Amino acid sequence: MKVRVLGCGGSFGSPLAWNRNGNIDINNPKNHRTRSSVLININDQNLLIDTSPDLRSQLYNARCTKIDAVLFTHEHSDHTAGLPDMRAMSLINQSIIPAFLSSDIKDSMTRNYQYIFDGHRDYSPFMSVKTIDSTFSIGNTKINTFKHNHGSIDVQTYRINNFAYSTDLKNFYENDIDKLKDLDLWIVGLLRYDPHPSHAGFDQINEYINYLKPKRTLFTHMTALLDYDELMSKCPENVEPAYDGMSIEL
Ligand SMILES: [Zn+2]
Ligand SMILES: [Zn+2]
Repeated sequence: MKVRVLGCGGSFGSPLAWNRNGNIDINNPKNHRTRSSVLININDQNLLIDTSPDLRSQLYNARCTKIDAVLFTHEHSDHTAGLPDMRAMSLINQSIIPAFLSSDIKDSMTRNYQYIFDGHRDYSPFMSVKTIDSTFSIGNTKINTFKHNHGSIDVQTYRINNFAYSTDLKNFYENDIDKLKDLDLWIVGLLRYDPHPSHAGFDQINEYINYLKPKRTLFTHMTALLDYDELMSKCPENVEPAYDGMSIEL
């Protein structure tokens, strides 16, 4: 399995705007972050988690011309607004691409992107909806998922073998964190050092890491308040910030 971090920025990306650099050193390319998404290559399939507003350039930079399925974590725009860019992937491969999502967001996603799922006038649909259960398969790949808290809404954590992705994480429910034991790689959202009403802060995320002890942990969904080198210097062993285009072989 190969995991590529397509983007690891928060909802604004990093830096925020021209000359609005937050705390980052803009001369370090690792601080230039597009909105979060990840590409997984497994069993000869390309699985995309979330369709970031930066999706087109992310797929171009990854030299990716085929997506076999998309898995959505939640419906916030920074995780979904690139959905129209899937049209090129559908056209190139003459395929209707399945979108795996939870039943709670099915109605609003199909309403917001109706032409994509149902077609409109001359436009044919190019994606289909698949509602997820806690365990499901895409081809030969088995995927486990559960909800974690993200303030006023829930988000899906996805686990594929010993890899898991938990973005936009405030809290885990009950003992769900135990479903993330024995990970080789955990990609987890860290918005900023301080806690946010919908995102856990650095100390709490580190408590989760200490409890789970994944072999390796990468931070994603980082604002321009997190400088790569500064954050790296505060990270314990086997924990580090991701950067756009980072690729990990598992
Ligand atoms: Zn987000
Ligand atoms: Zn969110």
